[in-house]
Amino acid sequence: MSNASANPGSAADFFAKAQLAARGTTSPPLWLLAELTYRCPLHCVFCYNPVNYKSNTNELDTATWKRVLTEARQLGAAQLGFSGGEPLLREDLDELIGHAHQLGYYTNLITSGIGLTEARLENFKRLGLDHIQVSFQDATQAVNDALSDTKTFEKKLRIAKAVKAHGYPMVLNVVLHKLNLDHIENIIELALGLGVEYLELANTQYYGWAFQNKAALIPTREQLEKAEQVVAQYREKLGPSGMKLLFVVPDYFEGRPKPCMAGWGKVFLSISPDGTALPCQAARQLPGFEFPNVQTHTIADIWQKSDGFNRYRGDAWMKEPCRTCEHKEKDFGGCRCQAFLVTGDASNADPVCDKSPHHDTVIQWVNAAQQPTPEEKPVIWYRNDQNSLKLSVPPVGAT
Ligand code: SF4
Ligand code: SF4
Repeated sequence: MSNASANPGSAADFFAKAQLAARGTTSPPLWLLAELTYRCPLHCVFCYNPVNYKSNTNELDTATWKRVLTEARQLGAAQLGFSGGEPLLREDLDELIGHAHQLGYYTNLITSGIGLTEARLENFKRLGLDHIQVSFQDATQAVNDALSDTKTFEKKLRIAKAVKAHGYPMVLNVVLHKLNLDHIENIIELALGLGVEYLELANTQYYGWAFQNKAALIPTREQLEKAEQVVAQYREKLGPSGMKLLFVVPDYFEGRPKPCMAGWGKVFLSISPDGTALPCQAARQLPGFEFPNVQTHTIADIWQKSDGFNRYRGDAWMKEPCRTCEHKEKDFGGCRCQAFLVTGDASNADPVCDKSPHHDTVIQWVNAAQQPTPEEKPVIWYRNDQNSLKLSVPPVGAT
């Protein structure tokens, strides 16, 4: 399995040492993300799925997914997210939910809502689904529909109400960026009106389609500051027993990176539609890796022995400035995928860190976003019809 020598700029014995350091200290993959399909009826401009979707259309069969869920549970996984693309497009979703429930997972369906019906909600409930996360692109029909290149706002509203009516705890997820940050108050009011328990205001992370579209999506500092103020006011107003609001300042505006995935290969295991196992959804793009596939490897071997999962465990792989940095055990040097996307080398310090020699690149992008209205508006790339599905789904209520 080892592919250590294929990593540019790194020696095989270096990785052998890193793997050795990680051995014996590997904690279980507590959080399993099952990306059932990359197919989706929406075409979001910030979609985190691969931009070369057409090369990633293979999907695991039901029996293999069930084996994956079983093996990961035996290894200690406790929380399971069914995600995508749009997981509702998998015809075996009911069977997988039922299997996961029997195994004792806490299960979460992460969905755009498009494709949910009253009948499916009822069935998921009967099968033991614990939780549903519905995404909106904005609180206004115009922006929601423009960002997803579909007419879905009204459907989403009906679906979100139906989810609550069926008694599910619900997270509302809204990805934030320059084009909707000014609507933060409307977004919070929308969530309150729907009675959701938890509003995730997820500032855009620049991977996949969002990285392509960063010139159009990176907000101004003023927008962010105002939005933070509004969130703080609502938190105070709602109090500790009210709706929970999560708002995290985007990486690009911070001087220090976040502890990405709580550390590489520490608690998070993502399985792609074709069975490729990844320590993070965006890791597929990293060159010099041969991530293992569940069709040829057990989950235990993938998690404990594969080069892909061991390569950035511990800190033996770190270069300066991380190697001797006092923060390395808190942030693990930041995000490997961001390091690769911005600097071309995944073993560099995350460039959002102001100690990184590449930090200026991020600063330039952020500064460019502060300009008033550019004469030429940035081109926006949609996850388009070729790369996605045309929208043809029954309205909620249809059976
Ligand atoms: S297109 Fe939108 S709804 Fe579909 S997977 Fe991407 S981000 Fe999610
Ligand atoms: S130098 Fe590395 S470990 Fe230190 S704060 Fe920056 S990214 Fe984190």
